[in-house]
Amino acid sequence: SPAKLLVTGGAGYIGSVCAARLIENGHDVVVLDDLSTGHADAIPDGCRFVEGDAATDAAALLTEGFDGVLHFAAKSLVGESMQDPAKYWDGNVVTSLRLLEAMRRTGTPKLVFSSTAAVYGEPDEVPIRETAPTRPTNTYGATKLAIDHAITSYAAAHGLAAVSLRYFNVAGSYRRFGERHTTETHLIPIVLQVPAGERQQVQIYGDDYPTEDGTCVRDYIHVADLAEAHLLALDKAAAGEHRIYNLGNGTGFSNRQVVDTCREVTGHPIPAVAAERRGGDPAVLVASSERARTELGWQPQRAELAEMVGDAWSFTQSRLPA
Ligand code: UDP
Repeated sequence: SPAKLLVTGGAGYIGSVCAARLIENGHDVVVLDDLSTGHADAIPDGCRFVEGDAATDAAALLTEGFDGVLHFAAKSLVGESMQDPAKYWDGNVVTSLRLLEAMRRTGTPKLVFSSTAAVYGEPDEVPIRETAPTRPTNTYGATKLAIDHAITSYAAAHGLAAVSLRYFNVAGSYRRFGERHTTETHLIPIVLQVPAGERQQVQIYGDDYPTEDGTCVRDYIHVADLAEAHLLALDKAAAGEHRIYNLGNGTGFSNRQVVDTCREVTGHPIPAVAAERRGGDPAVLVASSERARTELGWQPQRAELAEMVGDAWSFTQSRLPA
């Protein structure tokens, strides 16, 4: 049944795709975004947009009465989080605590939170299950883990119905919505800048990791499959429970394999050179999403890396000057 939902960060990459899918499913969506990293032209049609901060402006909005909040608004760059931790502790943890308080005061019953694979750090076992130890190797992951703990307390104490979705590496595009940052740091959009004519070559951060080809291994998930998990999570959230789900495809691709796939998809040679390791990067992050499949009934439809890269490439091309 249609719900009234607040989507923080709905002008960002994942938030805009999820907001679009919520609207397509008949929900009444209000997007709250301060446009610090999101884009005004990425706000989906058919929603109400409020330009503002999830820390300070959600409280007044929530007094209108909402069925739930999907909280995407965050600082999300591993490298930056190591250089400027205050931006992450404040922008992620303080903001989320304020939002939780606003939800409690207004009796807003449901929360779906964007958590991350970065909470796990270097895993003892792959694929990583939700029961794995959480030992983040970077500040970004530490802030998301702190918020997960706060949500658990709110569910237990105040009956919040909460779901944290721990995203592995999100890629691809959906309709007119895709990944674009003023300063791009994510591997696939950076690699695609080469065939787009915006960059000469790619640097691969570290080639001496304990992996098959020495480069880091990540588990890529299509942004449209990720959005479906949010719809299912909203449905399954239960009062007083905080459920946690890992979302990935269970297959690891090394950074070199990602570059190769980009070469195949674009037909461009894409020169790549080995560079220093980037601080905070675990060698291997691959998800077990058994719990999401079993409990949410989640079934990813676009598990092929070539399809994700193809959709990311279509999006990149759609934004190039004619
Ligand atoms: N990476 C790279 N060159 C780049 C950008 C990223 O080698 O120009 C690597 C990065 O060090 C990591 C992997 O690509 O091993 C995925 O990084 P990304 O920032 O896309 O996602 P993360 O796994 O940090 O969420």
